[in-house]
Amino acid sequence: MRLFLALVPPPGLRERLGALADAAHARCGGRRMPDESLHLTLAFLGEVGDDLAGELAEEIRSLAIPAGCWTLDAWGHFRCPGIVWVGGHRPDAALQRLHERLWDRLEAHQLPGRPSRFIPHVTLLRRAERLEADDLPHVDLEWSYNQVTLIHSINDGQAARYVPLARSRAT
Ligand code: ATP
Ligand code: MG
Repeated sequence: MRLFLALVPPPGLRERLGALADAAHARCGGRRMPDESLHLTLAFLGEVGDDLAGELAEEIRSLAIPAGCWTLDAWGHFRCPGIVWVGGHRPDAALQRLHERLWDRLEAHQLPGRPSRFIPHVTLLRRAERLEADDLPHVDLEWSYNQVTLIHSINDGQAARYVPLARSRAT
């Protein structure tokens, strides 16, 4: 099964991210991520067998991560494949450490795919027709988090559905 580790926004933040997605969609077109799918990917695991997925779910349930707060204050895009996102102007040291700590654990399970670079971002649009617009609303959000979620990504149609499998202990 296809898995990734992510931060899932609390409901109030999800709504505000959704409002930014609406504004971006009106200006840039493409496919707007549904509110329930908005997330920050910390580690993309790719295809994992059922047994290892079960082990990882157990491990995540017993994990406690340091609580943190991520400041979102920037728009960004990945030209290919037309992704418009929001994230931070500056690198975030706590998220970088969390990303590294998670990948240390994944590598202990022989999982490949650790990326050389981590750019924390929340994808709002896919396949956007325009990548930049100068009248996008100002981004000024704080994301307080204390849990990571192991998510199963299921693609049986147009857009992937994300099903949470396990959450780390709330800290
Ligand atoms: P689909 O690929 O079916 O259009 P999706 O991109 O929403 O849907 P996944 O590809 O399963 O779903 O991706 C889940 C999360 O992991 C997303 O945040 C995605 O950006 C990220 N991701 C996917 N592939 C990689 C990769 N190779 N490296 C890093 N992150 C990835
Ligand atoms: Mg994808």
